[in-house]
Amino acid sequence: MNSTRFLAERFKKDSNMMVKNISRKSGLKHINLGIGDIDIHTDEEVIRDAFKDVLDGHTHYTNSMGAEELREEISKYHKEEFENYDFTTDEVIVLSGGCHGMYTALKAVTNPGDEIIIFAPYFPVYIDQIKNTDGVPVVVKTKFEDNYQINRKDLENKISEKTKAIIVNTPSNPTGICYTAESLDIIADLAKKYDLLVLADDIYDFYSYNSSFTPIYTLEGMRERTISICSFSKNFAMTGWRIGYNIGPKEIIECIKNINECIVYSTAAPSQRAALSALKNRKKIKDNLVSVYRERVNYCYERIQSIPSLQAFQPQGGIYLFVNVEKTGLSSGEFAKKLDEECGITVIPGAPFGDSSSVRIACSVPLEELEEAFDRIENFSNKISEVSA
Ligand code: PMP
Repeated sequence: MNSTRFLAERFKKDSNMMVKNISRKSGLKHINLGIGDIDIHTDEEVIRDAFKDVLDGHTHYTNSMGAEELREEISKYHKEEFENYDFTTDEVIVLSGGCHGMYTALKAVTNPGDEIIIFAPYFPVYIDQIKNTDGVPVVVKTKFEDNYQINRKDLENKISEKTKAIIVNTPSNPTGICYTAESLDIIADLAKKYDLLVLADDIYDFYSYNSSFTPIYTLEGMRERTISICSFSKNFAMTGWRIGYNIGPKEIIECIKNINECIVYSTAAPSQRAALSALKNRKKIKDNLVSVYRERVNYCYERIQSIPSLQAFQPQGGIYLFVNVEKTGLSSGEFAKKLDEECGITVIPGAPFGDSSSVRIACSVPLEELEEAFDRIENFSNKISEVSA
């Protein structure tokens, strides 16, 4: 007998899942531009350092905030790399990646019914994270025509008595936008005016291609109301190590620590050792990854420019392109399904991101594969636009 009846009511409905089952018929080699995993392996020196440390005895629980040595290195790193990013080791907690960071932060601050603002297009997981921590997602749309920047009126209109926090993700998944100083100032200003918290998902901060990244935490008056969610996943090509950290006011960090002691207690010690080595080797790792992804993102953008029925926003950061497919005559769901079934290419339809006119393309395969993928995407898009014309 099916055991669904035991599930909590909230989990009986569909979640905001991104990937659905597909039956591929093309026989062509499958190219996955769906999942946002970095295809490049973790730097070898990081792996060797971590394994050596494990052999030397780093096989135990650490401090539940994360090893002191790692938190000191994190604090040093932020102080060296950014202006005005100065915090002590009791203002940072090591966690198992950005999702874990956002979830535990939301858990620490959300009362039932509190509203959490997110900007569409958004990272789909936020919706479930907010609901699962008893909050209510409130969506502020940002537009292609405005370069997906923040409009003060649109944001202020959605702030209510119940608003608790604003989630900010720059560089963005899925659009590739990097917020301008003006957009960050609007968010900071309204957060201060209405006494709101900002949950800053900074996990793509290395991948800021045109200008240096400014953490919203470092703006005037923001450190007391910002939790920065940071991760080694994308910046250091370490998605499988499951490691990241939150920086924030110590009262909130202490609460996250208490919550997390009931979940994993402390983050895996081998991953913490790897993170320590990654921070020490950051220059080499960053230069390599960022140049690879910059080239891929630019290549994809150029290819889309020559496909009349597709319209892409030129990414300023991140590892994705968000591509409007309306002119093909197909919905983004149909486009993604047909592209997968007929051409063996997986992209993600826009609906879970809060914009069903577009699909998300992750540049997580080598350039040669992207060339092959875009040859197929070009043929497919031209063919279906002819049919629907
Ligand atoms: N935030 C955003 C915007 C993401 O795109 C992702 C991963 N795709 C995450 C958080 C979570 O990353 P992780 O848990 O691997 O750090």
